[in-house]
Amino acid sequence: MPPARTGEPLPGACAIWRDGHWWHSSLRVAGWTERLVEQETGQLLRRRTQLLRRGWEPPDPSWLGDAIPHTPCPDCDPANGRRACTCAVDTSTIDSDCGRCGGTGLRPGPSTCHTCLDSHRIHQGLVVTLTDLDHQVVHLNWRAGDAASAPPVGTDPDGTPVVRLPERFRLETHARTLGVRPEDLTEADGGWPVDQHLRQGYVILPATGVEPLAQQLAQAGRGRPAARLIVLAAPPEVATLPQLIRLAHALNLAVDVSVRDNRRHHTADPRPDHDISWYVEITVAAPAQPAQAVDVPSRPTLAGAIAYALDYLPSVLAEATPDDPVQPIATPRAPMSEPIADPEPMLLRLGAHHPGQWVTVRVAPGGCRIDLHEREGARPLSTSTDLAAALTALGGTAA
Ligand SMILES: [Zn+2]
Ligand SMILES: [Zn+2]
Repeated sequence: MPPARTGEPLPGACAIWRDGHWWHSSLRVAGWTERLVEQETGQLLRRRTQLLRRGWEPPDPSWLGDAIPHTPCPDCDPANGRRACTCAVDTSTIDSDCGRCGGTGLRPGPSTCHTCLDSHRIHQGLVVTLTDLDHQVVHLNWRAGDAASAPPVGTDPDGTPVVRLPERFRLETHARTLGVRPEDLTEADGGWPVDQHLRQGYVILPATGVEPLAQQLAQAGRGRPAARLIVLAAPPEVATLPQLIRLAHALNLAVDVSVRDNRRHHTADPRPDHDISWYVEITVAAPAQPAQAVDVPSRPTLAGAIAYALDYLPSVLAEATPDDPVQPIATPRAPMSEPIADPEPMLLRLGAHHPGQWVTVRVAPGGCRIDLHEREGARPLSTSTDLAAALTALGGTAA
């Protein structure tokens, strides 16, 4: 029942649509929070925000199910700021003679707990929503108790067993239902590609006796409030690679397109987690400079990598602006009128020719170069005035 009227002034009221009805409640002051905000001038401002709480809670909705169970994280002790010791990571035994943790398996450390991302919860379920943000949506409610047969499919390179969950626990199955390529699935919050194991249902079992689905849910739900994952099932709407190159040239910038083809690499590993990876960067680098090592998160699609590169275009433009205010800058030009051939098929052939290695093609206003990334650094494969000439110089490699 709503609380009795007290006569005190109230800060507001709210209406909640639930179970086909509007429910109304007063709002009451529940406290204040304070945070410090830094101004551009360096001054600190104290911002106070009033916290409000409903005076009355409407009944739980009829569709509300059981809460998703969770267990405490075994690898951290947040109350005392301790994390799993290196002697205990990825093993089921603790080194009783370890000098760092004294044989307890936990020691002080500033880093984030890898097992729970500092939530101190291991979720036993996961609620996944796939949506194209238009008219299609699928909700999946996975619980650790839905034990499904997950046959072993082999071992990963360090010998840990790998199993595969049934199709209904693979996001790729549901992506195809929505008519979307599995590699186009991205997290709605942050835009990162959905983890490949979650897409394809592969689980690496770190210890015997671990239930495969429980292991997958614990891994996928790490640090997610309410074990909730919202997935955007739609390809990014971005420029094509030729359009991006034309844009960069008009701004006197270069484009580095890197590709790595893992499909024929690690052939002993059962997981086909060896798709094609892409990384695209708009850069101020000159054609003569070798490509930088690709050590950043790559994307499983070229369109996803282009979207990522465009996010950083303002930073590159700032970098391209000289510090000296009297130094002239190049005037942006209209994009070249003649069409550019799409280099993607050639990039795919180059990647397939060097399996497991990054190949970077730089298309710059003053020339083009192709680098192969090796352990010692980038090795130039070809340099030329334009992309077509660089490919011709490579001969049969790219043909
Ligand atoms: Zn230790
Ligand atoms: Zn933890």
